[in-house]
Amino acid sequence: MVPQDPWEMALQQFDLAAGRLSLKRGIRDYLVHPHRELVVNFPVEMDDGSVQLFTGYRVHHSTVLGPTKGGIRYSPGVRLNEVRALAMWMTWKSALMHLPYGGAKGGVACDPRYLSRGELQRLTRRYATEISVLMGPQSDIPAPDIGTNAQVMAWIMDTYSMHHGFSVPSVVTGKPIPIGGSVGRSDATGRGVAIAAREAAPLRKISFAGSRVAIQGFGNVGEATARLMHAQGCRIVAVSDIYGGIYNPGGLDPVAVTRHAQGTGRVARFPGSEEVSNTDLLALPCDFLIPAAIEGQLTKETAPRVTARIIVEAANGPTTPEADAILADRDILVVPDILANAGGVTVSYFEWVQDLQSWFWSEEEITQHLERIMTTTFQRVAALAADQKISLRTAALVVAVQRVADALLTRGIYP
Ligand code: NAD
Repeated sequence: MVPQDPWEMALQQFDLAAGRLSLKRGIRDYLVHPHRELVVNFPVEMDDGSVQLFTGYRVHHSTVLGPTKGGIRYSPGVRLNEVRALAMWMTWKSALMHLPYGGAKGGVACDPRYLSRGELQRLTRRYATEISVLMGPQSDIPAPDIGTNAQVMAWIMDTYSMHHGFSVPSVVTGKPIPIGGSVGRSDATGRGVAIAAREAAPLRKISFAGSRVAIQGFGNVGEATARLMHAQGCRIVAVSDIYGGIYNPGGLDPVAVTRHAQGTGRVARFPGSEEVSNTDLLALPCDFLIPAAIEGQLTKETAPRVTARIIVEAANGPTTPEADAILADRDILVVPDILANAGGVTVSYFEWVQDLQSWFWSEEEITQHLERIMTTTFQRVAALAADQKISLRTAALVVAVQRVADALLTRGIYP
């Protein structure tokens, strides 16, 4: 099966929403095309003395609402169309959450599992230098995504700071707390996913506490989602990572699974669980299915097998437009990525504001603001979807695209 191109997916989703807005052709074209794209090929000296060439990307999809914001992904298959799609989704996500940002995304085609710490650091510092023509606290602020973490953000912040001769914490978010990171950022995406799931539960008459949850992907986002939903009384019946999944209909303890995965490098063979493939996990009996790994997992082949009543898209782009149509026919509610996983960029925004002001907030303040923004945005999108009889995805995109279009028309077309 050839996975659907993420950029094609993003364009199809945009067309459904833009078709509901009266936008002139040229404005619509400007809104959808990436503003600028950088491709860099750069060398890294490996531990054995050899030199290896890597390809990296940084795409600014939109600069209409403010500086661009978006994660950096380290993954072997990263390519331009994937980064383009992820950058466009960041534009809509930031606009939906009312954050003063345009959308960006970056990536390097590499497999960090097979790089030593030294190689990873040299690759990161060189990539950060290569994209520093675009990156800056007032122009483009990266964050973690698949295969990157707080340490990688620390190296990016340090590299940028070394080039400027003084510390610039506000150039990246998702940093470690001692160098200007925010409390609550590492759990923020998962916390937002859990809030979105809780808000969605009444729409399918599910009691949140006691609900069964299957999560594909047990990284930064999947792990925090599992832990926070478990703490609210949900039963985590399955989780997975790139090597495969584990299933226990009686429920898994996410903290114990994390301990096991830290020891063995994978969730598989967790005591008391059955093995399940990443594809079969999508069809397990559950109330919430939470894809939290990569794009294109729910397709016309896998969507008919889903038994969950609600899908909460923790990953970006996990559902193809064909699968969206199948799930809608089957009355399975899909909480779209730009809403469900927006807790990450929202707390990244809080981190950036704190860094710019050198004034740091308490965890309680962070959690309260996140809770308020997530719930009000969810309710606004759900109300529009009900009113116009459209999916939550199209409703979220209608709100977001309209906001960017309004800002663009207010600013005017330069010159
Ligand atoms: P991560 O690298 O921390 O974790 C990714 C998880 O997915 C790991 O368990 C990994 O083993 C698994 N995985 C990777 N490739 C896979 C494959 N081919 N099949 C099955 N599983 C696979 O990444 P993350 O930061 O948790 O990001 C996960 C998803 O959430 C991505 O789609 C990302 O774009 C999205 N997202 C992340 C953030 C954030 O704050 N980190 C914010 C918004 C959205």
